[in-house]
Amino acid sequence: MRFETLAIHAGLDIENPSKAIIPPISPSNIFEIDAEGRREGDLHYTRLGNPNRLQFEHLIATLEGGEEGAAFSSGIAAATATLQALKPGNHIIVPEDIYAGNRKMIKNIMMRWGLEADFIHMTQETVKQRIRPETRLIWIETPSNPLMRITDIRELSSLAHENNIKVIVDNTWPTPVNQLPLELGADLVLHSTSKYFGGHSDILGGAIVSKKNDEFFQQIRFTQRMGGAVPSPHDCWLLSRSTRTLSYRMKGHNEHAEEIAQFLSGHKNVSEVYYPGLESHPQYETAKKQMNGYGGMISFFIRGDGEDARKAVGKSKLIKRATSLGGVETTWEHRGSSEGEGSVSPPRLIRISVGLEHPEDLMEDLDQALGK
Ligand SMILES: *Cc1c(COP(=O)(O)O)cnc(C)c1O
Repeated sequence: MRFETLAIHAGLDIENPSKAIIPPISPSNIFEIDAEGRREGDLHYTRLGNPNRLQFEHLIATLEGGEEGAAFSSGIAAATATLQALKPGNHIIVPEDIYAGNRKMIKNIMMRWGLEADFIHMTQETVKQRIRPETRLIWIETPSNPLMRITDIRELSSLAHENNIKVIVDNTWPTPVNQLPLELGADLVLHSTSKYFGGHSDILGGAIVSKKNDEFFQQIRFTQRMGGAVPSPHDCWLLSRSTRTLSYRMKGHNEHAEEIAQFLSGHKNVSEVYYPGLESHPQYETAKKQMNGYGGMISFFIRGDGEDARKAVGKSKLIKRATSLGGVETTWEHRGSSEGEGSVSPPRLIRISVGLEHPEDLMEDLDQALGK
């Protein structure tokens, strides 16, 4: 079956004995043990497994084309559990512009516990130079945040596998609608489901999908259950419900963002626009090769300085000032201010998450905020 169909039907028949078209929310945190002391499958205690979590995990694993999925209470919890599946002394290669929260987590938690990490501008050559015998994992985030750099997933995955290294791709921005890392050779996919999977700015969550149910994934599963950063049944239910419309929301985000990126490119107070769907993007060819659509995120430089960028963001009327992304409403932010200390965002950079409003309304608001 095709993606759109799977997004609507996958996971419905898991732990759903009443055959309800919309499986009920299962708030119970315990499940009955039979007279012989046996219990059914994974259902015992909700930290270990819950019907709504199993349904969502099956759904997201199906959409990414993996054997197994594990849902977490946030994207960062999913990232942390993945790194905790490694050992002290292991080494990872990470993009220098990795999502800022993950950078802080790696530096201030994982490295204190003995993980070694190189933060680099990722190309085939730079990665090759940093590979050591202890390297276990290469982290890819493409498009990257906030400069929308594109990394060739297929090329880096072959390099990694030649050296017995696993590859994880943070697929939060593109979603499986626009990019399928496991098909391109990656081993694992990470999501902050707080973004497009949730899609309505009302859920915090994360997930890991693994191509194979191997030992490494089993360790992540163990950390999910025993580390305990699991999502609530209600959040899992809401995520499954949101995911049913993911394909069509993403098509809308792609279409609107392409229009807004074109509009910004022609605006006299904008000097540069970073969007992988623009032919002017330095890695447009790689983006075209590995993406089915270019997503809803755009970064751009305003003419002037950091203060001008901050002021422009202050003038929007329809577009909301907020961090994060992936909602139906359009939001924007002066990224450097949001990232705070250690930010790698250039001061003139504004980041916009293009929502599903009519693009003409967005362009009118942008025009008045940026100055005609
Ligand atoms: C938001 C985000 C995360 C972190 O997810 P949370 O759900 O906020 O913990 C990780 N990676 C990317 C690319 C993100 O945008």
